[in-house]
Amino acid sequence: ALFGNLSDRLADTFTKLRSKGKLSPADVDGTVREIRRALLEADVALEVVKDFTGRIRERALGDEVNKALNPAQQVVQIVNEELIGILGGQTRRLEFAKQPPTVIMLAGLQGAGKTTLAGKLSKWLKSEGHTPMLVAADLQRPNAVTQLQVVGEQAGVPVFAPEPGNGKGDPIRVAKDAIKEANRKQYDTVIVDTAGRLGVDAELMKQAAGIRKAVDPDEVLFVIDSLIGQDAVQTARAFQDGVDFTGVVLTKLDGDSRGGAALSVASVTGRPIMFASTGEGLDDFEPFHPDRMASRILDLGDILTLIEQAQKTFDEEQALKTAEKFATDTFTLEDFLEQMQQLKNMGSIKNMLGMLPGGKNMRQQLDSFDESEITRTEAIIRSMTVQERRQPKVLNGSRRLRIAKGSGTTVTEVNALVNRFEQAAKMMKTVAKGGTPQIPGMGPI
Ligand code: GDP
Repeated sequence: ALFGNLSDRLADTFTKLRSKGKLSPADVDGTVREIRRALLEADVALEVVKDFTGRIRERALGDEVNKALNPAQQVVQIVNEELIGILGGQTRRLEFAKQPPTVIMLAGLQGAGKTTLAGKLSKWLKSEGHTPMLVAADLQRPNAVTQLQVVGEQAGVPVFAPEPGNGKGDPIRVAKDAIKEANRKQYDTVIVDTAGRLGVDAELMKQAAGIRKAVDPDEVLFVIDSLIGQDAVQTARAFQDGVDFTGVVLTKLDGDSRGGAALSVASVTGRPIMFASTGEGLDDFEPFHPDRMASRILDLGDILTLIEQAQKTFDEEQALKTAEKFATDTFTLEDFLEQMQQLKNMGSIKNMLGMLPGGKNMRQQLDSFDESEITRTEAIIRSMTVQERRQPKVLNGSRRLRIAKGSGTTVTEVNALVNRFEQAAKMMKTVAKGGTPQIPGMGPI
């Protein structure tokens, strides 16, 4: 899972902290040391780790923690705020030109995922009501043009590529021609895919800088593979010096549980992370929100993204009905079941459940999650009486035992389901009312 190890490590650290009342300087030091180790293991760059833990330490020793009713929770809040900070702070959205077309140029090493991203970005823009066009200005890699044509077709977006023999080998000319074409055909966004090399080299930078100069893009997105590890900082700096960019896209965030590049690049370059790519499919892509990512890392649950996905998955009317149920506290296990069944068809259940707050155990369960889990959940809910489904509060020990027997599951499984449901319903209720969700599992607030 995304930042799985880091999340687990931090969760362990905070659990230890929670058993204490007042925090002594030694407690703070111990915590900071553990956070430091967890970040380094996640491949976050040393300079970023030093800075980050320095600020945590200073704040944790200060008055805001000393005077807090719940010092441990205060520390988590500080870590959350600082994490949002190193991820870039505010969400940064794409900026569109006043006079279309908006030109977006992609730059990055070969294999970073630029071409795939071009497809994802164009599909997403289309879904947002834009009319994008893709431009094949990677004329180095033999297959690049064809590959872009394939993703363009999948995304249902036109691709501008050089005619054989015409402009071939000159990416600057291709990019310029593409913009003329976009003007002619009234496309409102132009995404320029450029060539990458396996390593940073002067020739590559010169070409990218040349394209930048020729097309004067509104956005230059630096695409970086989050698995690149400790090289992230050096690569990002090289691109910043050579081409410069307005934003960062992290790819392959699905691939590894480390992904330290994510936590290094924004703070080192001062450029915001704008999108995250989380798989090979064209839909495995999302705008990046520093606050939501921090919540995911700290396991506070990414309820907002969950709601957005739910809105995409279910029709509008149903989404409104669900929101209404959350707000009025009438969301029941029956509704829960109905939603799970719909999700089963979407195949995205794992992703969605991963965004619920739930701690380490939940994530471990998720990693071995299969669809038969839904069947078990269904069996548990079906073994409940109507009253129990609508008011899980009445579920005492003997009822839980009866349900476990009836569904061929265990009381532990019944408990887990009920807890998960209650926690989700509680957070959803807060969000539906326009509030900020409380941190789950942090004891009495
Ligand atoms: P480019 O050389 O920068 O254009 O990189 P490509 O778009 O060709 O991507 C290189 C490889 O990474 C391809 O096999 C892609 O399918 C894969 N890839 C791209 N983005 C992601 C991602 O977010 N997750 C995963 N797992 N694979 C990705």
